Amino acid sequence: MDKLIHGTAAGGTVRVLATVTTDTLDEAIRRHETSPTVSAALGRMMTGTLLLAATLKDFDRLTAKIDCDGPIGGITAEANAACEVRGYVKNPIAEVPPKPNGKFDVSRVVGKGMFHIIRESGFAIGLHREPYIGSVPITSGEIAEDFAYYLAKSEQIPSAVLLGVLLQNKEPFVAASGGVLVQMLPGANEHIITMIEDSITNAPHVTEAIRSGAEAIDLLRLALGVIDFDVLDEKPVAFRCSCSIDRAFTMIASLGRAEVLSILAEQSGTSITCGFCNEKYKIDKGDLEEILRNI
Ligand code: ZN
Repeated sequence: MDKLIHGTAAGGTVRVLATVTTDTLDEAIRRHETSPTVSAALGRMMTGTLLLAATLKDFDRLTAKIDCDGPIGGITAEANAACEVRGYVKNPIAEVPPKPNGKFDVSRVVGKGMFHIIRESGFAIGLHREPYIGSVPITSGEIAEDFAYYLAKSEQIPSAVLLGVLLQNKEPFVAASGGVLVQMLPGANEHIITMIEDSITNAPHVTEAIRSGAEAIDLLRLALGVIDFDVLDEKPVAFRCSCSIDRAFTMIASLGRAEVLSILAEQSGTSITCGFCNEKYKIDKGDLEEILRNI
């Protein structure tokens, strides 16, 4: 089962997180039927969003969004504090040739544009607060670097971000997916920062480690090397969408009586597809009649 682990090191001056998202990404790419390079981009984005969501207190939901001019068209991922994540891209079947070294050319499928982080709070308890939005230009398009650049620039938190996706030509198509986030908080000393930078630079690839059976805690051990850390908590991670047949009914009802009557007159039913998870809700004649009785 996919998990996310949250801990601290160097007397609380370094925040460390790691997650394995192999099954979570597999569910996302099965739902959206994404091309290999798009799958890699979506996986990195969902993993980065989960890691960042786990660092924030007093909020309900964190969304990372890329608006870009590359073939993918745009990527959106959303996670909550319970480590539930969902995500989608604008053009799931976009594809570009791999890099000369055989790796997915994620920066090419993304192109240029903007990287946004949106934090929302309060709605779970019925409060409507203005969301906090931070935006930076896309600097690399490889996504891990874009999360790191956003954190340094917009939140002034020097961070190391490792995100990786490994696919295979048989089911399950995701062989490994996961990531590590290390953040230097105020008070982190130069010596520790240098040690961590060296350790992360020399750490084995996240995806290779996951494929060999590494769990979230093992990824942290690999990234931090000789540096000790304390685990604060560990949570299961899952792809989960908040859509439901009831919400689909509400959406149809919001079209208004005249529109629902015209759907009934022209067709025997209709359907609504959730953009976030691609779930299709069929609304038949009986459902439409029931919706009409309630509006
Ligand atoms: Zn959905």
